Amino acid sequence: MTVTHTPMMQQYHRIKSEHPDMLLFYRMGDFYELFFEDAEEASRLLDITLTTRGSSAGTPIKMAGVPYHAAEQYLAKLVKLGRSVAVCEQVGDPATSKGPVERQVARIITPGTLTDSALMEDKRDNILLAIAPSGEKIGLAWLNIASGAFSGTEITETQLSSELERLNPAEILIPEDFKHIALSNTKCALKKLPPWHFDYETANQRLCRQFSTLSLEGFGCENKQNAVQAAGALLEYSLHTQRATLPHITAFSVENTNIYVSMDAATRRNLEISETLRGEASPTLLSLLDTTASSMGSRLLRHWLHHPLRDREIIANRHNTILALQSGTDSPPYQNIHDTLRHCVDIERITARIALRTARPRDLSGLRDSLKILPSLIHILASLDTPRIRDLKALLSPQNELLELLTRAIQADPSVVLREGGVIADNYDTELDELRAIQTNCGAFLLELEAREKERSGITTLKVEYNRVHGFYIEVSRAQSDKVPDDYRRRQTLKNVERYITPELKSFEDKALSASDRALTREKLLYEALIDSLQPHIHGLQIIATAVSEIDVLATLAERAIKLNLTAPEFTSEPKLEIINGRHPVVERQIDHFIANDTLLSRSRQMLLITGPNMGGKSTYMRQTALIVLLAHCGCFVPANSATIGPIDQIFTRIGASDDLAGGRSTFMVEMTETANILHNATENSLVLLDEIGRGTSTFDGLALAYACARSLTEKNRSYALFATHYFELTRLAQELKQAVNVHLDAVEHKDHIVFLHSVADGPASQSYGLQVAALAGVPGNVIQMAKKHLVLLEQQSINSGMQGDLFSAVPAQEPEPEHNPVLEKLRETEPDELSPKAALELIYILKKMAEPS
Ligand code: ADP
Repeated sequence: MTVTHTPMMQQYHRIKSEHPDMLLFYRMGDFYELFFEDAEEASRLLDITLTTRGSSAGTPIKMAGVPYHAAEQYLAKLVKLGRSVAVCEQVGDPATSKGPVERQVARIITPGTLTDSALMEDKRDNILLAIAPSGEKIGLAWLNIASGAFSGTEITETQLSSELERLNPAEILIPEDFKHIALSNTKCALKKLPPWHFDYETANQRLCRQFSTLSLEGFGCENKQNAVQAAGALLEYSLHTQRATLPHITAFSVENTNIYVSMDAATRRNLEISETLRGEASPTLLSLLDTTASSMGSRLLRHWLHHPLRDREIIANRHNTILALQSGTDSPPYQNIHDTLRHCVDIERITARIALRTARPRDLSGLRDSLKILPSLIHILASLDTPRIRDLKALLSPQNELLELLTRAIQADPSVVLREGGVIADNYDTELDELRAIQTNCGAFLLELEAREKERSGITTLKVEYNRVHGFYIEVSRAQSDKVPDDYRRRQTLKNVERYITPELKSFEDKALSASDRALTREKLLYEALIDSLQPHIHGLQIIATAVSEIDVLATLAERAIKLNLTAPEFTSEPKLEIINGRHPVVERQIDHFIANDTLLSRSRQMLLITGPNMGGKSTYMRQTALIVLLAHCGCFVPANSATIGPIDQIFTRIGASDDLAGGRSTFMVEMTETANILHNATENSLVLLDEIGRGTSTFDGLALAYACARSLTEKNRSYALFATHYFELTRLAQELKQAVNVHLDAVEHKDHIVFLHSVADGPASQSYGLQVAALAGVPGNVIQMAKKHLVLLEQQSINSGMQGDLFSAVPAQEPEPEHNPVLEKLRETEPDELSPKAALELIYILKKMAEPS
């Protein structure tokens, strides 16, 4: 049977086949319709009615639609869900077309290539990432199309998940045959492309064409073939989805990830930098600090918090700028900056829309008004003098020429959409002024004409009028019609009156009737031309946007430092971490009385073994230490009386455990993967937080693992470590390792209550208060009573069996007290690979001798 579709459905199928993995919004009159599977999916995702519309090729066509004027909200919902949409418009004239009116895809909307303000979150960058793997090496390139920032780097396979967490892309482009565990965990949209999209030669040419260069030499990508491949695929995809050139993308920067204090994926999540563990935006470090005045500032602050720097000069410059912004008593500079910037629009995104030629009238009026505040900003900065402020001042040029152009061209308060008119200012264009004058002066002109004609003809009852059918006319009573001048031409004869037109009135009519249409067309033309003449200003605007964002963030940090009682940290080249009266900045806002605690770490005090009851404050203490180190490296002040920080290269955390069901890993597996990552990568300059390691398996297994991890971390990695544990037996490590120290958080029992002291003291905890905490959590009284009885029984049994509640005694059975065993000590010092056969034999004799009973 031959399958026949109606001509319209044939058109639909043709367009759909060009965008198979996107939803197709197909414009029909006032609606965007979706058909077949698209309709089913959209009805599910958008909660819209699924209907049918006739049939095609013998089967009913499933259909769902959204009104065109409400389309943006549906599009926003779809991209949030990670779907891409091709929006197909009617481009032909329905009145004149034979068959279905001509249609074309006018916009492609994908989660990673958004620029439209209605579809984007103001305070979050939208990143498109491309991954080009080759063997062990992976090239990454990422683009923020709404700012033009385009960067790349090369990493190893194991770094992919932490890079995904750092870059937090909205959409990822991969070769269709690429698989990686990190991708199965990501929530963002994945777009698979044929592998040839990642071809190196094509990428090279594509990028050179974009930047108008002969080679990529100036961009530092000589040895970064994979990054270039990723960048090429990414650029091609962006050009395809935008259907426009991207003049605001002028460079590709190769990023050296070693400039950052690195954090793996788990650490970023655990520290709740910009998202709580439950996925909420607050309370987090960012929600606490984000009092920025502009959304550009907010986005930069988020970036800074996720990119702590190792370069202490840059950090010091941020710190001394914060101090300068706090200077002055009445109204400190940070306050004035914020007051000024509150009215600043999103210059960064508007600039991108100008480049993409999608800027709306209010974008331009907003830009104009924001440029007007630059002189005040420059004035506030004038009296401040720090190296960073000097740099920023140099970037803030006032843009007078652009401001003058926008002021001349755009109305004070233009309408939202260009098609309604009322956008281009008066006196900008003579032709537009005339067209508008015709509309507004219509009434006045007709009165004036009437007066003139009365005088000329001597007919005092003459009237100039208008109706829709006959247009403009001069009406004269039949009785007086013989007095009309020669140039009057009869237009209509009624019972008692004659209606005439004159050459003057005719030409006025022609003008007036088309004036409105012509004014709109003229405005559109002028607007397009205006967008053209804004193109040379793109680069200047991008620079201003960067400077304004940074000034906003620095002013914010100055303000937060005062309001949240933060102090400037100090850096030292000595290997130590000395925090006096440190606080957890987020937790302290949520409770009445936060107890500050010190953290002292050094080469001789590398590991703190932290014990104490559940709810005692162990994880708060560990996190606060990491947050203080993180904040210091972002250039922020820190919640402590003082903090002196030696060189730090990485922060690792293994806190809390959650199943990764999507990735097919159990709690224990997740825990061990994260631990393995730490043991492989932590260095002597790394800060490692380990909480409750080994809890996901049987007691002995867990204890043995926790023991071995703690030892290895101290002896091999030599990292600074905070090690919270429930295995009380582990506190013995402090006797075995001179770099390990016991600290504890305590609680006291008061009548039937338990009171947590939250203060960190030396030595191990005396008991675990498990039952008391369970009671606090609401476990029924009878169950607690039963547990108490059972506990007494268990304790009794363990004493009788000689275990004395000391599970750890099982571990030394396989590995007896190492520091008292000289044979083992000797063996530990030995590097078998470096021994000659003779030396090995000699060693055996020595060991044998040492092992003989003396
Ligand atoms: P643990 O890890 O020992 O189970 P948490 O660190 O989760 O305990 O702390 C439990 C609660 O105790 C926190 O939610 C907070 O309300 C409170 N808390 C923790 N540390 C402090 C502190 N230093 N001062 C006051 N309250 C604290």
